[in-house]
Amino acid sequence: MEVRNPSFFEAPPFWMVDWTEVNDYLDRVTAGEVWSIGRSHGGRPIRAVAFGERDPIERRATWSSAVAAGHPEDYYDPTKRARPVLILIGSLHGAEMEGTAACVNLAQVIQTGRDLRGKPWPRLAELAAGMRVVMVPVSQPDGRIRSAIRHLVGGTMDDLYYYGQGRMRDGQILRWPECKRMQPVPVEQMDFVGGYYNDAGVNIQHDDFFAPQVAPETRALLDLIRGETPDCFMTLHSCVEAPFIIAPENLISPACQLHQVQIAALCRQRHLQDGLRPRAYTATEPTGGFYLHTALHHTCGGLPLLFEFPQGVVEKPFDLDEILDIGMSLFEEVMAYGAHCRFWPR
Ligand SMILES: [Zn+2]
Repeated sequence: MEVRNPSFFEAPPFWMVDWTEVNDYLDRVTAGEVWSIGRSHGGRPIRAVAFGERDPIERRATWSSAVAAGHPEDYYDPTKRARPVLILIGSLHGAEMEGTAACVNLAQVIQTGRDLRGKPWPRLAELAAGMRVVMVPVSQPDGRIRSAIRHLVGGTMDDLYYYGQGRMRDGQILRWPECKRMQPVPVEQMDFVGGYYNDAGVNIQHDDFFAPQVAPETRALLDLIRGETPDCFMTLHSCVEAPFIIAPENLISPACQLHQVQIAALCRQRHLQDGLRPRAYTATEPTGGFYLHTALHHTCGGLPLLFEFPQGVVEKPFDLDEILDIGMSLFEEVMAYGAHCRFWPR
């Protein structure tokens, strides 16, 4: 791997995104439950941490069957569960580590009321205490470890694509979305396999979801989500135009699309108000294809959200303090929405 800028490998202590650091933090969690939901293709444990009690669910149908019957409560009845469940999934793409830092800081807020900078978040702590919050801070460890950088603040688009999508042996840096024309990417033809993929070159976001064998990271997340049956779950990504939530998406129910649009607008308003420079426009037409979060939604009925963090590259500068504030205020707005309506109906 090339060191394109030494500063990418240094960060203040509150910016906890390194694989070892995150695991050390999880080992010290006392107020929550920490467990392994599976292993990556490269054999690394994929770890989850949960805060808040888990209520049992009486289930008499699959999600597909219950929806077709016009009775989603036959799969899961939110009125019979004391607290809503929110799942946060970080570093699905290993060089997009901003969500990992936000998850670890949220764990700290839940346990102490303050983030790792010592900044208090009383409303966020109160909202989180009313929910079961499950986080997978590093859902794709192979790519997180391989990309190695702690951030991309001050970087260029070539830096972003090198550490993210990787470089072929002929020197060509793969870019988004052209990198998606190969799945998996031919790792043997690459001189650096970016953090986007697991060790087999699979982009988990576009796995072969209905194949008999899916990537182990996909399997672990599908199993987690089926077991937890979250009311809402959010995958945490990063891109240049961010921050924004992708909304609405076309392969989910109109009710879910409405939730997405409302939550996206609330978060955008919050980021505007706090001077955190959200994307300049909002989508007016449903977008999106069939992604990992689409597969997760149709597995468990949970409201899917995809959030994009900014990375602080020169095209749209942010510093690490601002990026963390974006994450904390995002979580606060999403939880406030869930406290109001529980992310239902479907
Ligand atoms: Zn991504």
